[in-house]
Amino acid sequence: MTRQTREVRIGNVRIGGTHPIAVQSMTATRTQDIAATIRQVELLEAAGADVIRIAVDNPKDVAALAEIRAARPNANLSIDLQENYRLAEKVAPFVQKLRYNPGHLYHIEREKPVQEKVRYLVDVARAHDCAMRIGVNAGSVDPAKLAKTTTDDSITPMIESAAEHCAMLDDLGFDQYCVSIKDSDPNKVIDANIRFAEMRPDVPLHLGVTEAGMPPDGIIKTRIAFEQLITRGIGDTIRVSLTLPFEKKGDEITVGHQILDDIKSGRFRSVPRFEHKGLNIISCPSCSRVENEAFIDLAQNVREMSAYAKEHDITIAVMGCRVNGPGETDDADLGMWCAPSYVNLKRGPQSLGHFTYDEILGKLREELDRLIEERQIA
Ligand code: SF4
Repeated sequence: MTRQTREVRIGNVRIGGTHPIAVQSMTATRTQDIAATIRQVELLEAAGADVIRIAVDNPKDVAALAEIRAARPNANLSIDLQENYRLAEKVAPFVQKLRYNPGHLYHIEREKPVQEKVRYLVDVARAHDCAMRIGVNAGSVDPAKLAKTTTDDSITPMIESAAEHCAMLDDLGFDQYCVSIKDSDPNKVIDANIRFAEMRPDVPLHLGVTEAGMPPDGIIKTRIAFEQLITRGIGDTIRVSLTLPFEKKGDEITVGHQILDDIKSGRFRSVPRFEHKGLNIISCPSCSRVENEAFIDLAQNVREMSAYAKEHDITIAVMGCRVNGPGETDDADLGMWCAPSYVNLKRGPQSLGHFTYDEILGKLREELDRLIEERQIA
């Protein structure tokens, strides 16, 4: 099925229109660990990445980015601006794309109208010939949009937030942008992107299931969403978000290409509607903000430890940092987000305290047993 979005240029890659779907990923190492991050960029380039995203949170990250750019001059780099959006003017000379999150933009300089912040980003993007991505995530939706929701419909606030920011960019006459609307639930990714595509058929979409987790489950969730969307002509770029050891990060790109090849050849794996049954473990793909590299082992250990509960409809979330961890774990039955020397444990939105990396699996096991027992009694 064909759907034609407008063309957007990201360095030497073009997305939208009739261009092939671009495959992206993100570095997982600390940005200031320059050698390790260059190695990540090399791994992703070797695997065939069209665009590589790097997180930048402070001036030291900016300095590191300059060196990474010098070492990999041909990579199409995208920068992930979270709350520190004012770094845009410092990083733009080194990259081809700026990604901002409307939810995070809301929180900084609250006295300033969001239109002013967006105008600033557009001015920077224009000055340095950068594309932009409006990146909406389920765990960090603009609170003003959430406040308007009276039901448990979590999709509408995400779509409204994306549409509002598209309108701001349109008003500024800036058309070199795409949108992403991500959730850890593939069904919500499918529904949200279908609805947004109907509303804005001209805007290129970047697809992804956020915190999809570890292979193979993370690949299955992502494949299901991509099959349902791409066959409808929706999707101009993709990212497969997987929790992987640093040296295996190129697998995100390899898997992305594999899924695209399968869809093109008519090799589908999904049923019309994905219904998750049993234990569901979601975990972030990690990025430079990971507070302790032990996060990756923790995610794997959680999966092994909790295997005994595989028949139970329980979601456990494992997140790498404080930026997205607190919000993205709210909807899980049991959630963890990592700090440098301890792990925060939650039951739904309620905090259960924090525990060392040695203690956390035991505490999680206790809470998991308690949850199973309560549900069996109920
Ligand atoms: S939760 Fe934190 S560490 Fe994990 S991908 Fe998101 S920002 Fe990066």
